[in-house]
Amino acid sequence: MTFDVEKNLSAALIGLEKIDMRNMPVPELGPFDVLVNVKVTGICGSDVHFFKHNRILHLEVTEPLVLGHESAGVVVAIGSQVTRVNVNDRVAIEPGVTCRTCEMCKSGQYNLCPHCKFAATPPTHGTLCNYYVHPEDFIFKLPDDISLEEGALVEPLSVGMYAVERANVKPGDVVLVLGAGPVGLLTCAAAKAAGAAQVIIADLIPSRLEFAKTYATDTQLLLDRPEKGEPNFEYARRTSTQIIQKLGQQADTVLDCTGAETCVQMAVLLTKSGGSAVLVGLGATTQTLPVVDITVRQVNVKGVFRYCNVSPVSIVRAYPRAISMLTKGNIDVKPLITHTYPIEKSQEALLHATNGSDGAIKIQVINDQ
Ligand code: NAD
Ligand code: ZN
Repeated sequence: MTFDVEKNLSAALIGLEKIDMRNMPVPELGPFDVLVNVKVTGICGSDVHFFKHNRILHLEVTEPLVLGHESAGVVVAIGSQVTRVNVNDRVAIEPGVTCRTCEMCKSGQYNLCPHCKFAATPPTHGTLCNYYVHPEDFIFKLPDDISLEEGALVEPLSVGMYAVERANVKPGDVVLVLGAGPVGLLTCAAAKAAGAAQVIIADLIPSRLEFAKTYATDTQLLLDRPEKGEPNFEYARRTSTQIIQKLGQQADTVLDCTGAETCVQMAVLLTKSGGSAVLVGLGATTQTLPVVDITVRQVNVKGVFRYCNVSPVSIVRAYPRAISMLTKGNIDVKPLITHTYPIEKSQEALLHATNGSDGAIKIQVINDQ
């Protein structure tokens, strides 16, 4: 394969809702690095957040930043010490490069590494580009029967699978997921694959639930919005009571995939005593929780941050596990891809993801170069 690193067309965020398509320099290939010709990048909520606000919490975009971190592509060059992948291999890129030496990395919980450099998080550039240099231990070969589009969905699938692992979902469990975005839906698929007997999803948007009817869920609940002036917790309690009446029970596990305070509260209220309320969504930094309920009913509230070795005692990484679920047909991610854009139209892709209320689930950007 021939390649020209001078032609590194990249989608750089240069202001509020402003992408500039420009050639960016390609970092030098180190001995343990792989040069990937990125072919597919999915747009994620964090890309949209940076696009809209140019910041997430304390992370501010002060220099042009290439967005994108859900990617797959084809290897075009390898460093002198690379042994696990070869030129022409089709690969998925795990976007967070950790230090590999700290206590968290050594314990297998590398998602908690304080030195992680994550694609499209300032100052680290993302993968909405033609060429991306990445260490080989964060590159995973895709089997022949898995498309690059599916490969780009291994990232959010890993989030869903890790959340289900953290929740300790067991065969026969009743699992309730709040939020029918890509992360919520992939969490449902992972829960089904883990043997959940009933997977229930809830959202405020009818089109999202229409989609969920066709994907990995048994029951879809359309939530009412809070009444005018209704305090969050009043709403959460009222809505949870209605849901419990409707389902006839609480769930063994509730996974919040919205980050909304009302949903985090509901995650606790809707969990059976002794069950797990798992927080995947990222919302306001501080929120009010029904703590006495958590204490006296022993609800296990757990956070989820990205993914790691799935369970700290497992030696198997999240990416290979997610890829094997695709290969075995246990989880199908293809239906989530509702829209695609060529890389030259990255601005339009991000605007669509920002304003999309047209049934879009996962928007992917395709690079044909
Ligand atoms: P998304 O915005 O596409 O989906 C969120 C869904 O939640 C939407 O369908 C929305 O209608 C629904 N929702 C929002 N507020 C609600 C409410 N009050 N009641 C009911 N439904 C509500 O986002 P996504 O890409 O699916 O990601 C979901 C969440 O997970 C986001 O908060 C994202 O930041 C977070 N996330 C966390 C991690 C992690 O490592 N913890 C990784 C990826 C994404
Ligand atoms: Zn580390």
